[in-house]
Amino acid sequence: MEFYVMTLFPQMIQQAVSFSILDRAQKQGRIGVHGVDIREYTQDKHRHVDDAPYGGGAGMVMQAPPVYEAYADICKTVGTRPRVAYMTPTGTPFTQKKAKELAKEEALVLLCGHYEGIDQRVIDEIVTDPISIGDYVLTGGELPALVVIDAVARMVEGVLGNEESAGEESFSGMLLEYPQYTRPATFHEQDVPEVLMEGNHEAIRRWRLERSMEITMRNRPDLLIPEKMSREERGIYERLREKFLEKSLAR
Ligand code: SAM
Repeated sequence: MEFYVMTLFPQMIQQAVSFSILDRAQKQGRIGVHGVDIREYTQDKHRHVDDAPYGGGAGMVMQAPPVYEAYADICKTVGTRPRVAYMTPTGTPFTQKKAKELAKEEALVLLCGHYEGIDQRVIDEIVTDPISIGDYVLTGGELPALVVIDAVARMVEGVLGNEESAGEESFSGMLLEYPQYTRPATFHEQDVPEVLMEGNHEAIRRWRLERSMEITMRNRPDLLIPEKMSREERGIYERLREKFLEKSLAR
């Protein structure tokens, strides 16, 4: 899968994807990450890419022509009109489901805004997927684009090795992931839970399911849909709910 990142700061992208799993995936040819410098496409002799907003107000707005020209050049390279994800706090929230969906594309363009954002006319013309990575405002779209690339790339076949499987992790189903432990067996007088040391696979599975339910109830109860739970999950859920209720009444 090829990622094309339209940005004023291509070095920021190139640097960040040159480590660990994303670096390996590029060397294996499973993904490509291309920083496309919007400034290269300006006709302005001073290489300006922004101007004051019509109607007044603070800050500058990125101009439509260089953004469009950069996109047109990517289309020529790819040979089609790829999906364009615009990083914006006004977009729809980015989720694991969206990451899986985008990973099916052969090419994906990520458009990074800066300053007050980008002229709406080019957004209307080229953007297919406005994406927000959370309810806060950053200085530019480069960090959001990197978040999207990382989450999408690990859904591309072969990017994760067997030892890094995405099968059971948070957001693969309704539950967040259970806590993990590794050596040493004792750290600051805290032992690893005994069940994980005993080799009883069924007991470990059950313990992990309970911990997943517990952490989801505590931190993200909005993810839980009792009607969609298996009989076993529902049993654990009801039991933990009573425990939580008893605790809050005792306070
Ligand atoms: N004036 C814009 C607003 O209030 O919606 C914010 C512009 S922000 C300072 C500059 C750029 O950062 C945006 O164009 C966008 O590309 C990126 N950005 C900031 N916060 C973001 C977020 N939560 N998710 C995705 N992109 C974001």
